[in-house]
Amino acid sequence: MAIATAMEQDIKRVLVSEEQIREKVAELGAKISADYGDKKLLVLGVLKGSFVFMADLVRQISVPCEMEFMAVSSYHAGVKTSGVVKIIKDIDINPQDYHILIVEDILDSGLTLSYLKTMLLQRGATDIRIATLLDKPSRRKANIRADYCGFEVPDAFVVGYGLDYAEQYRSLPYVGELKPEVYEK
Ligand code: 5GP
Repeated sequence: MAIATAMEQDIKRVLVSEEQIREKVAELGAKISADYGDKKLLVLGVLKGSFVFMADLVRQISVPCEMEFMAVSSYHAGVKTSGVVKIIKDIDINPQDYHILIVEDILDSGLTLSYLKTMLLQRGATDIRIATLLDKPSRRKANIRADYCGFEVPDAFVVGYGLDYAEQYRSLPYVGELKPEVYEK
């Protein structure tokens, strides 16, 4: 059986198609380029979930930027947020005086981004903005909003385009809702 077919069997429905993502990423890239102009921009991806979105987004940003990655853990192998943010990989540079654009796969409770934002401002970043592919506003616990948002999604567990369940499904080219029986097994 083809790999894509095996993964697709676990998808209840497609929430955001490949085509919709492509159009939206181009739109967000143009907006970000216009907003940042010649500011000292650092695009900061939160691993691993944002890597596909970040790779596509930076190729739509026409102004110069540096790139860094952080890895944090808040979900472990489950589907419910633990609220605990653990830094697994930190950035390699001093963020002082940078305008930082944090790139996330999904803004859910907001606890992860709220923590990162506070930490980077404390370290001297000039300004922090957030670009997220997906937003689940109904689940917000922290007082945080995205400056650049791709799509609002309902309160369902989603995978694909970088987002995983137990490290699977990241390579799906679209965002889909995972069948509950997959994670309730
Ligand atoms: P927050 O701190 O906003 O609750 O959590 C954000 C992180 O939780 C995301 O970066 C992502 O890794 C994970 N997450 C939240 N909702 C989902 C979801 O529906 N699917 C997947 N795969 N990860 C999610």
